[in-house]
Amino acid sequence: MSVALAWFRDDLRLDDNPALLEALRSGMGVIPLFAWQAEELGVESPSGAARWWLHHALADLDAALRERGSRMFFMRGRAQDCILRAIEASGARDVFWNRRHGPGAAELDAPLERLLRDAGIGVHISSAGLLREPWEVLHDGQSYRVFTAYFKAASKLPARRPAGLAPAQLHLPEGRPPDDGPLDALGLMPRFGWTKGIGQAWEPTAAGLEVLMQGLPRMLEDYGRWRDYPARAYTSRLSPYLRFGQVSPAQVLERVRELPDGPGKDCFIRQLSWREFARHVLFHTPALLQQPLDPKFAHFPWREDDAALKAWQQGLTGFPIVDAGMRQLWNTGWMHNRARMIAGSFLVKDLLLHWRKGAEWFMGTLVDADAASNFLGWQWLGGCGPDAAPFFRIFNPVLQSMKFDPDGYYIRRFVPELADLPTQWIHAPWTAPERVLANAGISLGRDYPRPIVDHAFARDRALTARWQMRSKVSDGSDA
Ligand code: FAD
Repeated sequence: MSVALAWFRDDLRLDDNPALLEALRSGMGVIPLFAWQAEELGVESPSGAARWWLHHALADLDAALRERGSRMFFMRGRAQDCILRAIEASGARDVFWNRRHGPGAAELDAPLERLLRDAGIGVHISSAGLLREPWEVLHDGQSYRVFTAYFKAASKLPARRPAGLAPAQLHLPEGRPPDDGPLDALGLMPRFGWTKGIGQAWEPTAAGLEVLMQGLPRMLEDYGRWRDYPARAYTSRLSPYLRFGQVSPAQVLERVRELPDGPGKDCFIRQLSWREFARHVLFHTPALLQQPLDPKFAHFPWREDDAALKAWQQGLTGFPIVDAGMRQLWNTGWMHNRARMIAGSFLVKDLLLHWRKGAEWFMGTLVDADAASNFLGWQWLGGCGPDAAPFFRIFNPVLQSMKFDPDGYYIRRFVPELADLPTQWIHAPWTAPERVLANAGISLGRDYPRPIVDHAFARDRALTARWQMRSKVSDGSDA
């Protein structure tokens, strides 16, 4: 029997896995393979919390393969070396994989494809991770920079449909790749036990995914109304499953399209398209991961302030809504989208710290850390990305808190030291009378920090910095 490799990467599922299904349909004996070398993809490589997720998603996929009579082969080392070693040991003549879109992945996949083809190995590449490939949605041959225009154009094109279900029985061929040991040998799990809270918050398996998928009909009824309120469970929480391809956007879209029409459904489909847009932008503008896409911002006078950065990372800024978001992130590996916007804006505009520092922290702490969505999100907050909010539009963290966490439930959950503070004061504890603070058992500066910056001052400072940047650019100095 001829042998083929099915190389898994960001597509850790059996159903709607075009590469796997095509390999199986070819009639060859299929060897599922996962290769790992930390940092091989640079900033696109999973790190920190995302590696924890990856470990569990792989364990679950391996178990699903074993139930069907197969298994995953885990290999350590550069992907190219692993594939070549696997071909040599197993006698495989064909390799199947699903396409990735980031620049690091492209740098890795394209030479490997050439190398294999030159060696007479069949290479079969499928589309699996997006509804529409980045080169399919173009305007006069150009890519889109504005989301609304992208969304309008994309909506007119057919979306990829799920490729089908995996067979109930799988058979491993005689030829085998070298086995680099069990999954544990990849060293994805962190050495210190900082992921306990993440483990309590998530079930990174197909079973955990199915619970969320079953919740979609209920969630979508009020998604349009409540999706911006972090205390309410009105977003899907599908992002890490999508990140690692345990579910494809095509599968999600299919489930959603079966549901009755309504504003929540439309709004959700639009949000899914932000993920597509991020990949579209990254594919056409790989510099998204390195530099501000608005070149003016190369002249922005960012501050250096390690103490402020640390306070932000630890959720100790003295602004409860910011701290709640940052502690949700640290404790559960995920943060609600509205909180990402508020906490991110605070870093960039109130603290005037480079958005890259925020992007790096998120890449290490989010279970859904995805370079395209993350860097697009941060460049958007920094005012320098495509379709970004203008820099002079500065969130007031207290007003955002009053609007999107009006009863303070989110704050009370993640900043428990403020739990007994009456709602009237919870958004800005420093404005509360001493007596109120004392009744709630809080002494500011001891139990909870005073604000590390005055928002009105920070706002003026940010606007001045923007003005300095603009005058530097129009001067031509340093340009
Ligand atoms: P839902 O509201 O249920 O949306 C469904 C899906 O649509 C999400 O799972 C996600 O895949 C996609 N989506 C929704 N909003 C966005 C968006 N604004 N941009 C891109 N895709 C979106 N998302 C990531 O998946 N990985 C990241 O690393 C990431 N970093 C971000 C960094 C910043 C600074 C900001 C502002 C946003 C970031 N996002 C990122 C986008 C968004 O916050 C998350 O996708 C969303 O919070 C995930 O929760 P959910 O699955 O419940 O979303």
